[in-house]
Parts: sequence; C-alpha cells; structure tokens
Amino acid sequence: AIYLDYAASTPFDRDILSAVFESTDTYGNPSSTHKLGKEAKSMLETNRAKIAKYINASPQEIIITSGATEANNLAIKGIVNQHDRPHVITTNVEHSSVKSTYELLESQCDVTYLQVKENGRIDIEDLKHALREDTVLVSIILINNETGVIQPVYEIAEVLKDRDTLLHLDAVQSFGHVDVDVEALGADLLSLSAHKIYGPKGVGILYCKKNTKLNSLITGGLHEAGRRAGTENNMWTGAMALAMEKVVENKTERNIKEMQLKELFLNELQVNAIPFDVNGDVNHASPHILNVYFPWVDVQVLLTALDLRDVYISGGSACNSGSVKPSHVITAMYDDARASHSVRFSFSYLNTEEEIKETVKVLKSIYESLKATA
Ligand code: PLP
Repeated sequence: AIYLDYAASTPFDRDILSAVFESTDTYGNPSSTHKLGKEAKSMLETNRAKIAKYINASPQEIIITSGATEANNLAIKGIVNQHDRPHVITTNVEHSSVKSTYELLESQCDVTYLQVKENGRIDIEDLKHALREDTVLVSIILINNETGVIQPVYEIAEVLKDRDTLLHLDAVQSFGHVDVDVEALGADLLSLSAHKIYGPKGVGILYCKKNTKLNSLITGGLHEAGRRAGTENNMWTGAMALAMEKVVENKTERNIKEMQLKELFLNELQVNAIPFDVNGDVNHASPHILNVYFPWVDVQVLLTALDLRDVYISGGSACNSGSVKPSHVITAMYDDARASHSVRFSFSYLNTEEEIKETVKVLKSIYESLKATA
C-alpha cells in the first residue's frame, strides 16, 4: 500500500511509543499530594516545559487538550464568551473545527469571513478593512490542511500589533514545516496536534499568551490553571513533547525530502501527459501538501479507483451522512466544479521515490481507462 495522506494523520512513531511506555510507572494523579502524585506532576511539568520551548513560549502558556479540535474550540469560545456580541474575523478556508465553531457562534457575535483569492491567500487590505473597534479575535489557518497554502501571517501580525484584537493561529499543519515561534508570529492563541507530527491521536495543545483571559469550556477541577478541567493525560503529553523534539531535530532534512518528492510527483505527472493543474499558490506552500485538479475525473471516482489499487489519498471533502460535498476550501478559491475534480496528496519523509512513481503509474492507468470508456 502507498500512503499519501499524512496531512490527515501520521503513524505513531514506535520509538516514541516505547519511550513513553517506560513512564507507566509514574501513574499517580498529578494533582495528588503524595510522592507518586508529585512525581507525576513533575513529569507533566517537564513535558509541558519542553513543548513550550519548541514554540518559544513559557510553560504557563501551554494548555494541554485532547487535540486541536478542542484547542480551536477553546481559543474561540473562550474569548467570544467573555464579550457581548463582539466582532470576530476569520477566513473562508478554515478547518472544520474553526469553521463550524464560528458558524455556531453567529447568533452570539458578528463574524466576518475573509474571502481568499484564487491562490488561496487572504488579501491583507481586506483584513485592514474588516477590522472594527469591537473586533476581539482574528482566527487564521497558518498552513491550509487541504492546499498547503501558507497565509501571510507576518503581515497579519503587523496589522494587529498595536491593537487589542487577539490573533489565533491554527498551526496544526505548520509545526515542522515552517517556524512556529509564537513571539515571531505575534500569536496570542495557537493550536497544535500530536498526531500530525508522528505522535498519538487525542492530544494537542493550545498556547495562550500570558495575561490573556480565557474562559474554560470544561468545568471541574482547577487543572491547567483553571482553563481546562480534567486529569491531565500525562503519558500522551510526554509523547507529544518527544514528537516535537524529533520533528525539530530533523526538520531541514525532512522538508528537503518532502519537497523533492512533491517535485518528482509533479514532474512525473507531466512526463506521463496526465492533464492536471495545481490548486493554490505553489510559491507559498508547505512541502508536504499538494492539491491537484484533474479535469478528467470526479473526486469520488478517483478516490475509489486509487483505494482499490491500495493508494491512499484524500479528497479534502467532508462526508455528511453519505452525501459528499465538494471541498469548501477549493470552492472558495475556484468553484464547485473544480472542487469536485480536486484531490489532496500529502507527503512524508517516510515516502520513497518508488512510491511516487508507482502512484503516477496508477493514475496514468486510471486516466487511460477512463479515456477509453469516455
Ligand atoms: N486544524 C487543522 C488545520 C487540521 O488539519 C486538523 C486535523 O484534522 C485539526 C485542526 C484538528 O486536529 P485534531 O485531529 O487534533 O482534532
């Protein structure tokens, strides 16, 4: 099988799993006051400090969550709930965890959805025009999970610099691909997820800049400085810290490898005369994600044909009770028609050149057979 869906999830690194297994002896509750509890607390805080270091934050600014969906919910609702009908800004290409949250909050706040251009990026002038006196929050996806397009985040931060408006970045696809330094990015809130970086599913963090008031969504004990109740997932936090450490250590070579694989893939498509076009700005894109428009095939037909040949990719479309809607991200950049002929390939340093060539060979055979029956 060939797996080209690393933006959906990465395999859990076995070495990390083995390393965290060693920590099962520290099973105490970090809130318990006895020795075993203190040991667990110390382990938790060591890992929190590590996570903080990798994004240039301080440990008190890290809230451990069940993943980025929760982190995004906490960032948005935790701010919006403090105000009476505030104004907020986001884009029309966000991940569903941000998109649905804002859609739900439309009865409680005024939401401006910045419309991206055909290259998938927002126009900084649109942001300037959208800002209001009562704008409390701006949520932006740093690297888009469907197209890999990188938003002009430094320009966004510059616009917000002298305002009270908070900047929330969904950096889930970014860690390891671009610098995720909360200071440099000007972020007040930033979410990450472990399972996109070879860690386990079900753990993530929300960075919340110090002195930023955040309403907790989950009530209970005073865990995470009162911002997220519930006994901390000590082992998985350790796994996330290790996953981040490994990513940082190998960042350059992994990115070079992923870039080479992406270029090889594009080159092979060309050489094999398979009609295609790339969705989004190739000059502002992460090496690990490529969204391709194939005018000759419908998304579902292609996904099924590839699946049958054990090539696993993603349509980037949301499945709702059996009916498949075209991706809102590609629709926002182009139109429905293009979206229903576009798929996402996402690469890892674990992929080989042979896998890329084999995938294009499979695509070619699907193309030829569809052409023959057309
Ligand atoms: N944001 C982006 C950009 C993502 O790609 C994902 C993953 O699907 C999420 C948020 C949600 O992360 P999680 O799976 O940890 O809830």
